[in-house]
Amino acid sequence: MQIKNICCIGAGYVGGPTMAMIALKCPDIKITVVDHNSERIDAWNGSLENLPIYEPGLSDIVKEVRGENLFFSNDVETSINLAEIIFMAVNTPTKTEGKGSGMAADLSNIEACAQTIAKASKSDKIVVEKSTVPIRTAEKIKEILDDNGNEVNFEILSNPEFLAEGTAVKDLYEPDRVLIGGDETESGEKAVAALVDIYSNWIPKDKILTTNVWSSELSKLASNAMLAQRVSSINSLSALCEKTGADIHELSKAIGMDHRIGPHFLRASVGFGGSCFKKDILNLVYLCKYYGLNEVAEYWHQVVKINDYQKKRFAQNIIDRLGGNLEGHKIAILGWAFKTNTNDSRESPAIYISSKLLEKGASLKIYDPMVSKDKIFQDLKEIKISKGISDNLINKQLNQVSIFNNMESSIQDSNGVAILTEWDQFKKYNWKLLKQKNIPVFSHMSL
Ligand code: ADP
Repeated sequence: MQIKNICCIGAGYVGGPTMAMIALKCPDIKITVVDHNSERIDAWNGSLENLPIYEPGLSDIVKEVRGENLFFSNDVETSINLAEIIFMAVNTPTKTEGKGSGMAADLSNIEACAQTIAKASKSDKIVVEKSTVPIRTAEKIKEILDDNGNEVNFEILSNPEFLAEGTAVKDLYEPDRVLIGGDETESGEKAVAALVDIYSNWIPKDKILTTNVWSSELSKLASNAMLAQRVSSINSLSALCEKTGADIHELSKAIGMDHRIGPHFLRASVGFGGSCFKKDILNLVYLCKYYGLNEVAEYWHQVVKINDYQKKRFAQNIIDRLGGNLEGHKIAILGWAFKTNTNDSRESPAIYISSKLLEKGASLKIYDPMVSKDKIFQDLKEIKISKGISDNLINKQLNQVSIFNNMESSIQDSNGVAILTEWDQFKKYNWKLLKQKNIPVFSHMSL
């Protein structure tokens, strides 16, 4: 089947960059990215300097294909009906109420998408799960589509996105692998072949892996769980290093040189953040419990617990070092994004650590090269609200926060510096100058 028209629902961190890359590599396919958030769509159609998502290299691609074969639109239903393939790239956060609250994935966006697709489709469609979903979600999607559709045939594929924020363009351009799961029926195989054809425009065939739907769905959760486990493993050892005089950087190097272990994802940190790791592991834990595998659930849950412990330890270390009560202390917070080269601050350790320091009375001088002032205040407000703190106290604590647009002003007059995102510019700074002045610098980077 020759695909001419693609629709992607969800213009976020996954949908935006992924569709930009497909548009670049498949000039004969028209791609429309739709979203019910009209501000986001306007931003994608607006100035290249202010796209809703920052990723190195992304604006150059958008510049080349926008208005040629890549379009951003609010007209969800028309775009769905014109497409042969519809990607679902909507967010699937952790449930905050009902059964599985705090652990299971909230599939309401996926379900809403399926309803819309069912209603809008007047011809056969291939529906692709791009969003991370629990295993067997395809079954649920199929049910909604078949119960509410116009008697057209829907083929569901799982094609999880493995891009890492901060390196999305590179990861999309040269992925380690592309995974496509489909039904082992004639129409399922045809749908898989159509998607394989699209990726084959720039990805070698041996890197395109086809599996059944369930393996594909579970692979995404399993990959994120294994990556997060490495972070928690090395972070747990950093605690032991601090007690024993071993150096975690030396340890990482020594164990990473073992080819069976490998050097990646072995750097100690303030803890992992981002929208995926915690959410996906909790989702995995919930799935294991659902199937009665309590020991397996407990094993993976520990990865998240160590991450919480690492963030807590980092904040406590600052508090202890500065004498317990932080009133009158000014602390520079360098970095707000959950990692370098992104403007995404979802689940960023900086939020938790800053909130803890504010509780102890500190004044914070925050700088991040990519996260906006409004977003920083919004993040702080949300964590305070989630802790049930009164409006009065929230306002009092937020009054202690100032945001700067360069690192030097943030450091000036501070009597402690916490580096929470490893932006390159922080690595290059001469930290010895501060140490000479007896100003402590809290960081997991080797300075
Ligand atoms: P991700 O990191 O998974 O891409 P984002 O939150 O960045 O997550 O993006 C998901 C996008 O999906 C958001 O812009 C949101 O407005 C959009 N979205 C969610 N549900 C729907 C829906 N039912 N219809 C259209 N857009 C949706």
